[in-house]
Amino acid sequence: MIKKLLMIILLILLFSCQESTVSPVISSSTMALLEKSKSIQLRAEKIEQNILERQEEYNILQDRKDLLTSIDDKDFIDIEKLSNYFVLDMKYATSDNFLKKAVYSCAKCYVRGIVAKALIKANADFMKKGYRIKLFDCYRPHSVQKKMWKIVPNPGYVANPKGGSIHNKGAAIDITLTDLKGNQIDMGTAFDHFGKEAHHAYTKLSKEVIANRKLLRSTMESYGFSIIKTEWWHYNFKTDYKFQISDFRWKCD
Ligand SMILES: [Zn+2]
Repeated sequence: MIKKLLMIILLILLFSCQESTVSPVISSSTMALLEKSKSIQLRAEKIEQNILERQEEYNILQDRKDLLTSIDDKDFIDIEKLSNYFVLDMKYATSDNFLKKAVYSCAKCYVRGIVAKALIKANADFMKKGYRIKLFDCYRPHSVQKKMWKIVPNPGYVANPKGGSIHNKGAAIDITLTDLKGNQIDMGTAFDHFGKEAHHAYTKLSKEVIANRKLLRSTMESYGFSIIKTEWWHYNFKTDYKFQISDFRWKCD
């Protein structure tokens, strides 16, 4: 449809150019039309690319249906082995975190099988709306929890390793949203901002930020995830399984 419109515009332009041999000066209205045609073309290309990417994710979901159903709910799964459509930014594998220190030897996102399946469905839904899930943290080995506690022994910031965290069970994730190209959208604070501005009940935020947080929350909740009051980025997966705290360590390639 857009391509047909472009063809018509180009034909009109061609016709007007032939006429303009009388006068070599391109009129300002023709210039404006040219500009408009260019911007329509750029928009058309962008829309086409987005549709292709979304279609690809659906195809993969279709292709991987058998694989997804064969995954054991309790197994630890590397999310990147199942989908290329998550954006990974594993903050604890870098020094860009509140500990100012890397506590993972490499960036991997492992979660329990049941959580991986729900995450893939949620991400496909976000992609339909023009977004992607960006992962900041997933399963966190118990020994890393101890390491974090040693650096920051403050229960307001780090879960005491005695009781452990849902991250240690492979059933919690820290996430935000990006557009389809991977550009992060505004959630009002950075990840791991430990202040009231990161609370779900905090409303002194722009309409856009409130809408972004609402989109993240409502979609995640519809796939079985639940929030904690103090961190907009943290989601626990509601499950009947009583997962144990684990110290499984992933291999780095
Ligand atoms: Zn978390």
